[in-house]
Parts: sequence; C-alpha cells; structure tokens
Amino acid sequence: MSLFSQTDEAVLKTLYSQALTNGKSYEWLDYLSNQIGGRLSGSHNAERAVQWGKEELEKLGLDKVWLQPVMVPKWTRGAKEYAYLEADGESTVMNICALGGSVATNPLGIKASVIEVQDFEDLERLGKAKIEGKIVFYNRPMQADLISTFEAYGGCVNQRYQGALEAAKFGAVGVIVRSMNLRIDDFPHTGSMTYGDLPVSQRIPSAAISTRHADLLSSLLKLDKKIEFYFRMHCKQFDDVQSYNVIGEITGSEFPNEYIVVGGHLDSWDLGDGSHDDGAGIVQSMEVLRLFKESGIKPKRSIRVVMFMNEENGLRGGNKYAEVSKNKNETHIFALESDAGGFTPRGFSFDCSDAFFNKVLSWQQLFKPYLIHYIEKGGSGADIGPLKNGTTALAGLRPDSQRYFDYHHAENDTFDAINKRELELGAATMAALVYLVDKNGL
Ligand SMILES: [Zn+2]
Repeated sequence: MSLFSQTDEAVLKTLYSQALTNGKSYEWLDYLSNQIGGRLSGSHNAERAVQWGKEELEKLGLDKVWLQPVMVPKWTRGAKEYAYLEADGESTVMNICALGGSVATNPLGIKASVIEVQDFEDLERLGKAKIEGKIVFYNRPMQADLISTFEAYGGCVNQRYQGALEAAKFGAVGVIVRSMNLRIDDFPHTGSMTYGDLPVSQRIPSAAISTRHADLLSSLLKLDKKIEFYFRMHCKQFDDVQSYNVIGEITGSEFPNEYIVVGGHLDSWDLGDGSHDDGAGIVQSMEVLRLFKESGIKPKRSIRVVMFMNEENGLRGGNKYAEVSKNKNETHIFALESDAGGFTPRGFSFDCSDAFFNKVLSWQQLFKPYLIHYIEKGGSGADIGPLKNGTTALAGLRPDSQRYFDYHHAENDTFDAINKRELELGAATMAALVYLVDKNGL
C-alpha cells in the first residue's frame, strides 16, 4: 500500500514516530557543532561544513546533491577583545565582543568617556557638542512584556545594526551596544552591523557588551559621569571568498518541475558553535528528506533541502539561490525555513496568498495531536525571502521563542543548549507540512 493511500493522520504519525525513535537530526547536529564548530562565512570551518553537508546528503541516497557556488564576505574577529572601565582609578574588566563587520580599534585600543543613549533621537538631542570624542553606549533593553521575543529583538536591533553609522555622524570615537538578550548574564552577543556609505576614514569600532555589564556601566555612569571606557579589538575585513550553498533533491514523481524547498543557514557566528542558530535548522531540513526516504514517501513534486551560506552577514546564499532559480525558470511552489532555534515547535508563520493560507488552516486538526497550533500570517525566513514573487508560498517554522535570545549569536549557543526531543519534533513538524503541501499542491 502506498503512503498516499493512507490517511493523512497515519502519515503524520509515521513521520513523528520516525523522527522521535529513529531520527538523525540530533546526531548530525552533534557533529556539526562539536566536530566542526562555529562557521562564519568565508572561514575554514564554513568550508568544512560545506563538505560535511554534501557528504551527509550523499549518504541519504537522494536523486541529486550539488554545491551551488556563491561569493561571500570574509571578516575575522582576530585576537580576543579586551575592555575595562575606569572610575576614580578603579578598573573593572568588561565583557565585550566586536560586532560582525566592525573595524578594529587602533592596536593600542581606545580610551574615552562614555555617553549613554537609548536611541538615535537621543543623539540628535545631545548633538555633536556632547558626543564628539566620546564612546556612545546604546542601552535600550529588549522589551520584556512582548510575548514574541523576536518582536522585542526587532525593537532593539537598529542600535546594533546602525549604531556606529549614526554615532559616527556626531563625531563619536566608538560604540558599545547592549547585547540583544532578555536575560541578565555575562555573554556579549555579536551580530551584523553596517557602516552604510560612510567613508572608511570615518568608520568607528563597534562592540556588544553583556547585559550585566551594560547594567553596571549604566549605574556607574549615574554616579560618576567621568568614567572612562577602554576597548581593544583586532577584527579585519578581507576580500570576498568562494563558498557554496549545499543542495540535495528528491525528484518529484508527477511534477518534477515544481519545487518545494526546506532549508536553514549553514553559516553561523563565530563565538559559539551555532547549534540553535542555525545548526538546528540545517539538521531539521536534512531530516525532512531523510524522513521521506525512510517512510517510503515518494513526493509528487521535487523536494529540495538547501543549506544556505552567509545568512548572518550578507545573505549572499539566499540571494544566489533565488537568482539561479529565476534564471532557470524554476517554479517554486513553497519554501519553508527553520531559523528560530531548535526549541519546541509551536507552528508556522506564512507569507502567502489567502487561498494557500486557508488550505493550511484546513489541516489544523491534523497537527493537534502534536500540539502545533500557531498558524498565522507573517514573516518566513531570511534565506528564502528572495524567492518571494507573488506566487511562491513562504513559511517559517515557529518554535517557542522564550529562550532563543539567551543564546543568539553568543558563546553559549552550543550543543548542550539543544534538547533532543524538541529538535526532533521540529523536524517532524516541518516534514508533516511539506508532506501536506506536496500532496495537495498550491
Ligand atoms: Zn539564523
């Protein structure tokens, strides 16, 4: 009996059982995290991850596995950053890290007084007279009463992304940004930043500071405005280097020219090993294809797993995949990304037509036994975003988000922060949706 003659309930049960009793996602992630580790675009580890991904997909016996070339930026952190604050001759070492793409300080470091702000409007109000020659300290915290921590992140991240660009306009000599983290702890969280069109000579170094040290700095500034902050960073920007998206495909039995993509991003920041961001999404996406093979599901449409390169600091992989598929006139009916951590899945967020969304809503009952209830319209994923064309339906897996920013882009985003069952449930949930979309079409 073919699986297509089974009820959807039965197929979903098979997919979840397989993932939970015989899954590979956790074992794969153990290797990616612990044997390869952090894999920033352009790094040797990113190359190792590409080779690993290709080899593992080849072992699955898919119809096609290939590497899609893409040029990516290469930025290195260099020797560990060092910072302290000094007040009345008393100094305290501060936990900082360079933001991705930041320029270095001069080799001896920078020492200057600090001015704390909440947002760019504060810069306008203070003006050049109060900012010039100082280090600007952005300290607007993530809003704790928002249930979606991604929304709280969205409300803060401009400090990190454009903070240096804005502060440089007022003559600041450096920027310190409160880490995008709701928890008070000692980890600085890196992430991408931009200098926009700012000439190289006007670019100022930009670092994240741990939430605990942000609070300390802020409270000391209230006592003594003459505090001085010292920091030293050795980061460096290189020319672009060759890298790859890793792609595997099960070719469709009825509509081989209609594609469904599942994916995540293979690159990560360099501080931890990128287990949640986005090793989890990578292994879950691989698992979707493995579960199909293992469960004897022969999809009608071609299902691709895409391990996108360079989401974190460039999105070159996502753009390249969309560009190539457009040039080849490929029809993508659906793309699903997992890039919100390997936590308990709650559902999906859809960027799609009303017709497609209503179809998904009609499957709600099927997901009930697995406690998957969040089916909403909204964003999907950064890497699949470039596929948006008005017809391709896009979706993002939405796991519980409460702990995500405890780890995001920080040294503690490591394999021990992953729960095996939560990871596996996410993979099964993705496989279930892909199964239903493939079976029913757009
Ligand atoms: Zn990510």
